[in-house]
Amino acid sequence: MSEAGKDRALVLFSGGQDSATCLAWALDRFARVETLGFDYGQRHRIELEARGRLRAGLSRLVPAWGRRLGDDHTLSLDALGQISETALTREAEIGYAASGLPNTFVPGRNLVFLTFAAALAYRRGLRHIVGGMCETDFSGYPDCRDDAIKAMQVALNLGMDRRFVLHTPLMWLDKAQTWRLAEDLGGGGLVDLVVEESHTCYLGERGARHAWGYGCGTCPACTLRAEGHRRFVAESV
Ligand code: ZN
Repeated sequence: MSEAGKDRALVLFSGGQDSATCLAWALDRFARVETLGFDYGQRHRIELEARGRLRAGLSRLVPAWGRRLGDDHTLSLDALGQISETALTREAEIGYAASGLPNTFVPGRNLVFLTFAAALAYRRGLRHIVGGMCETDFSGYPDCRDDAIKAMQVALNLGMDRRFVLHTPLMWLDKAQTWRLAEDLGGGGLVDLVVEESHTCYLGERGARHAWGYGCGTCPACTLRAEGHRRFVAESV
């Protein structure tokens, strides 16, 4: 275990593929890992329900991870749902605005998440905060960009008088590489767990089981996940 391994971490954990991989990454590195999910009336509430199954699955997969896995927290952020006029929280069709951003975009959402995560980490004595933000192949969310996260680290440390370290292990990975990271961390067992139990679909569909997991198969999140998995499998043979 590295020097950081003596430390304790908080993982932003939605129950999707990215945050499940981040949780495994953190369990591999830190002595104690707690998880945080946000409930803001999102349509994919099913993603939040995946969290318990993933936590249990990770603990079974690698017993050392199970010993390091600490409390799970859920914070209600109803205000975020109230102020967002988006397809995630209203029954609008998924599409793209003139800005090029998907209309599921909730402006500044990750800045709010990180602020609440840091406030919780402060109270819990956790130094490291881990999030699945990625600027490589997602839809241009500006608050997922590396510069935005680094700026948040500075702002949170100044504003809370702490030395938090924000980690974004997926920042420069594409979706195929994220599947590869899961395999590196936990072998085929972790890939299978992420396929079976993590949830990404914007529409909250769990009906059809594809090679890459459950989902509608046509929304932007499913398309990205499916294409990444297809390339991961193709590069594995
Ligand atoms: Zn979908």
